[in-house]
Amino acid sequence: MSYPFDEAAFSRRDLLKQGAAALVGGGVAFAQAPAVITGWKPATAGRRFRAVVRYRSSFDVQELTLNPIEPRQIVARVQAAQACYTMVGALNTAQPVMNPAVFGHGAVAVVEEVGPLVKRVQPGDRVLVVVTGQCGQCFQCLRGRSANCQAGFNRPPVMVGRMADGTNVNGNLGGFSELIVAWEEMVVPIASRHDAAELSNLTCVAMTGLGMTMVREPVEAGSSVVVFGAGPIGLAAVQGARLQGAAQIVAIDPIAYRRDLARTVGATDVLNPNDFENGAALIARLRQMTSWVPDRPFAGGRNPMASGPDYIIEAVGGERFVPKTERYAREPHGLEVLQSVFTLCPAGGVMRTCGVGYPMGSTVTFPAGGWSNGTKDHAGGNLAGVQPMRDLPRWARLFETGKFDGKALVGVAVPLDRWREAVEAAAYRTAITGIVTFT
Ligand SMILES: [Zn+2]
Ligand SMILES: [Zn+2]
Repeated sequence: MSYPFDEAAFSRRDLLKQGAAALVGGGVAFAQAPAVITGWKPATAGRRFRAVVRYRSSFDVQELTLNPIEPRQIVARVQAAQACYTMVGALNTAQPVMNPAVFGHGAVAVVEEVGPLVKRVQPGDRVLVVVTGQCGQCFQCLRGRSANCQAGFNRPPVMVGRMADGTNVNGNLGGFSELIVAWEEMVVPIASRHDAAELSNLTCVAMTGLGMTMVREPVEAGSSVVVFGAGPIGLAAVQGARLQGAAQIVAIDPIAYRRDLARTVGATDVLNPNDFENGAALIARLRQMTSWVPDRPFAGGRNPMASGPDYIIEAVGGERFVPKTERYAREPHGLEVLQSVFTLCPAGGVMRTCGVGYPMGSTVTFPAGGWSNGTKDHAGGNLAGVQPMRDLPRWARLFETGKFDGKALVGVAVPLDRWREAVEAAAYRTAITGIVTFT
């Protein structure tokens, strides 16, 4: 365990050593006091279940034997799990994986058993196992930044089960599995009977899109919003903007069916970036579309510095597989778009970004004065502002009441044996999402 603390200041190292001792055997995620548990034996241990496992160069469904859960873990029966773009790199099995892991990025599930220290849920509860949890106790959670919850920091891996040869398999977030085991802080109870495939998007992509429009910098009623990218995150952002009462929502995507979906879920205008000679021409068009009475700033119009959309949402990301659909061929790695977000943003505007560009480590540059003094508010990060325990139950209600169109975000839904189709749909953008469902 190593922390960048000033060890000379006082003996944190000794304190941490004590904390580390608490981790041994107890499986407690933080350096919390170890609990003494007597007379408890997990009833679910030894159950057989099927899961998609990556190990060495093999990547397919395997039968596993469930390990005993830890006192602060839960085990749940998965109902649906989505495949997001973050996961698609795994299709490149040329890089062998030496530590076997269950594949996935969260799940909708029904709790079957809880350890004796779990307070948040009980057997029978329907839950979302989410990509970023909320422990409620760490520094980031206490200051309202649960998207940066530190519960994942130094948490032991979730050794969900064993393969036929006895090798342990890490099941952290692995939703492509009949059973999922999770630490309590990664689990959000939702009292909802809504369709599992639809809700599975809330564990990652829909949570991101709604987070970018409804929390930290919430879209104001009557405002104008530009959304780059009409994938599942962008379409959730369009819906978040619509729910907040945006007057104008412009969605930009090279893929025709995604532009159609954007209109279906609330975009007032859609643009194909391939219709523009270059990024500058697209920016000029967007600025013109979202500025009102430019020569009358006193009457709600915009002077040139303030000309453009009130909110800009970036949900493009970097291309890791060439889409089997239309493609933004000029710069398919999301870097031009990140640059465009900054250029397009007017004084007083808000920028929300979540794409990391590709290849990893790429850079974009901004004018020093504009970055420092341009009064462009930027909140980066997939989930900035989201507090899963607060937001996900009420966002599930938006699905239930039809205010959020969850059906539009379900592309390919397949059983576990056809899991690869779900991932390929995400990788090649042939469907809006790929979801594995369980009966
Ligand atoms: Zn994800
Ligand atoms: Zn936390």
